[in-house]
Amino acid sequence: MADTHTRYGHTEKDIAQDFAEHLKYSQDADLYHTTDQNRYTALALAIRDRIIHQWGKSRKTQRTQNARRVYYLSLEFLMGRAMTNNIINLGLEDETRQALSSLGYAYEELADQEPDAGLGNGGLGRLAACFLDSLATLQIPAYGYGIRYNYGIFRQQIKGGWQVEQPDNWLRDGNPWELPRPDIVYPVQFGGEVRAIREAGKDIYRWIGTETVNGMAYDMPIVGYGGNTINTLRLWSAKAANEFNFSEFNDGDYTEAVRSRIQAETLSQVLYPNDTRYLGKELRLKQQYFFVACSLRDIINRFKRQGASWDTFPSFAAIQMNDTHPSLAVAELMRILVDLEGIEWDAAWEITQAALGYTNHTLMPEALEKWTVPMFQSLLPRHMQIVYEINYRFLQKAVSFFPMRPDLIGKVSIIEESNPKQVRMANLAIVGSHSTNGVAELHSQLLKSDMFPEFNIIFPERFNNKTNGITQRRWLLAANPALASLITAAIGDRWIRDFSRISDLAPFAEDAGFRDRFDAIKKQAKIHAASFLASDCGATINPDTLFDVQIKRIHEYKRQLLNALNILAIYVRLKDDPQFRASFQPTTFLFGGKAAPGYVNAKLIIKFINNIATVIQSDSQVSPLLSVLFMPNYRVTMAESIIPAANISEQISLAGTEASGTGNMKFMCNGALTIGTMDGANVEIAAEAGRDNIFIFGHTEEEITSLKATYSPREWVDKNPLTRHVVELLDSGYINVNEPAIFAPLRRSLFEEGDRYMLFADMGSYVETHDKVRTLYAENRTEWNRKAILNIAASGKFSSDRTIMEYAQDIWNAKPCPVELDDSGDTILKDAGNPVRSSGGKKKK
Ligand SMILES: *Cc1c(COP(=O)(O)O)cnc(C)c1O
Repeated sequence: MADTHTRYGHTEKDIAQDFAEHLKYSQDADLYHTTDQNRYTALALAIRDRIIHQWGKSRKTQRTQNARRVYYLSLEFLMGRAMTNNIINLGLEDETRQALSSLGYAYEELADQEPDAGLGNGGLGRLAACFLDSLATLQIPAYGYGIRYNYGIFRQQIKGGWQVEQPDNWLRDGNPWELPRPDIVYPVQFGGEVRAIREAGKDIYRWIGTETVNGMAYDMPIVGYGGNTINTLRLWSAKAANEFNFSEFNDGDYTEAVRSRIQAETLSQVLYPNDTRYLGKELRLKQQYFFVACSLRDIINRFKRQGASWDTFPSFAAIQMNDTHPSLAVAELMRILVDLEGIEWDAAWEITQAALGYTNHTLMPEALEKWTVPMFQSLLPRHMQIVYEINYRFLQKAVSFFPMRPDLIGKVSIIEESNPKQVRMANLAIVGSHSTNGVAELHSQLLKSDMFPEFNIIFPERFNNKTNGITQRRWLLAANPALASLITAAIGDRWIRDFSRISDLAPFAEDAGFRDRFDAIKKQAKIHAASFLASDCGATINPDTLFDVQIKRIHEYKRQLLNALNILAIYVRLKDDPQFRASFQPTTFLFGGKAAPGYVNAKLIIKFINNIATVIQSDSQVSPLLSVLFMPNYRVTMAESIIPAANISEQISLAGTEASGTGNMKFMCNGALTIGTMDGANVEIAAEAGRDNIFIFGHTEEEITSLKATYSPREWVDKNPLTRHVVELLDSGYINVNEPAIFAPLRRSLFEEGDRYMLFADMGSYVETHDKVRTLYAENRTEWNRKAILNIAASGKFSSDRTIMEYAQDIWNAKPCPVELDDSGDTILKDAGNPVRSSGGKKKK
């Protein structure tokens, strides 16, 4: 018989019992018919049982303490899997392992059934996920708000070397981590028109004749390390507002009525697969308004339950906009305050600015969101009026800064006077919030000097930097348990909560025994990665080679093509230069990353890498020394197994293009050495690690800026014989023998179109740096491991805990709200009792 601790007890026996009960009563599975899927779900439900009580306790503590909540609004949360992280953060790893093994199961096999929650494209979405982990661990009351896409980022297949996209039906087998909240539903309006009515000497604006879509909440628990605070990721799903359009139904058109219902629900069907590039699609704007409207209504509902006056709203809610995707929050909050709450414009504007903060994520002009006025107007007519009013008042202020400078006024205007006119969402976000931050020192500097210099004159106090970070709990403790144990054995486990302690590891770089143990763990991780790839994509790689890894979204600015050209430079020398060949360190180049489906050149770069891989593999002279693999379907789960195995981390974007990067930080804390440009957070990584322990190459941002005016790719190619040789090989059609001219667009971008990302300016120093790095690995493993350990020891700054503490202090004024651990669980029957009867007729609120 089950004892009474089944649902919340922390012993091996309790967990085994709960697992078994869920297998039977939630999954109806028995000895004769149980799938791995059933067992995964049963385990997830058993773990979830251990979350629910403390989750409620967290909410209650935060409510009774009247703590300021942080609201992180993000169109993307690239969460990956939840199981292992939840178990580790709850401190139930050993017990869970033993519970399963007592029943004859291997924990890893069950955990491997979980699909990634891929509700994001890349760095921006993964940052949001790391932030949630840090917020919960630091016990800061916080909600993530986003969209519950039915389809996350597409699954990438490679066919004939080309990327093929497949739908990611991640909810097919259900999601045991989420709780549907059918009682938390908000209507969201679209379209219609605005009527001004004069009432008591005041203009009242009514938004009428709209279509309505409902947003329903689904909650996922975010377990902080130690299990005290459990915050919430609340994702909105679109539901038809009416079961049927009754007139259509009465006219007998049943199918038409159902069709319009499905139409409404397309809103949350699919994540747009574009990274740092926007498309002016109407459905995308609808998604943005949908999740902003639901989230603000939810925040305001929570505020109103406290019964405080509106001027205190900013001290109750700190709302952070992750990029401009949620920047409609500026107009929507104004609409709620002015139209629905009857607050005067100026007071409403104070509240709005004080509550909102904006994080900019890019320096690329093509990534800045703009919506045409006609589209904006027809979808959100009242918001259009409000944006014009905000802009009118703001430009009056701007004129006082820039008298007689219509050119500068034109630059800061929220409305771009193009044809058609466009709404500039970054301008709206800067004007409508109290803080605009960049995500690395260099990026934040360039925001002020290059991207928004006029705004920096008008609002200098608003601009600040928050260098990105990653959670060491997912990216080191969970992803690389062997290295984590080695570190803990050396310096204790305080680094798990306080990553600045990782600096205590530095002296161990000089300890030969420690270096050997590090080396053995790296080797083991490479064997592990090889077996991951064998089962994930059927590829065979050799763990005895150097692993050189570039995994990130495929984008021209990230310069995967430069990496590919360097591989060709290695290839030609392996064939032509016996001396080079004799001392060559055998190397495996690993690539992973998705290209936006409409991004032709990015997809062509994938094909280019795959063709190079094929040429090398079929060349028996070269293949024992050099191999290239494009790993299909890069995602969080792949990153977790590949990063611990990497020897070299490729971070080679053109200086001044990568806002921060976070992949660079994951590699650093796992003991890979970086080959990188002085771009994004690489600059800070170099400063922390020391220039001797990182391989920096290429031009700096300043050098690029002065070079750009007169840059000629042809000249740079001609002055470097090896580069010229590689370009000749390209031109000869050697790597596309039966596929004539397929790479012409890449050639064109490099020459006719002027090599926008200046590959050839940096190629010489890139090739040289690579040669030097491989030689060090081949000839002085002691020094290599020393540098790797020094990198780990220097990675303390790059914890998202540090980033979140800075946001909390400088932008949100948010403080921890400690939640007591309570696993007694013996109030269940009392909590289930009828509150009306048990309190003598008084309904408890
Ligand atoms: C960390 C991460 C990224 C971001 O990588 P960058 O190298 O910073 O571009 C993208 N995708 C996944 C799955 C990640 O884990």
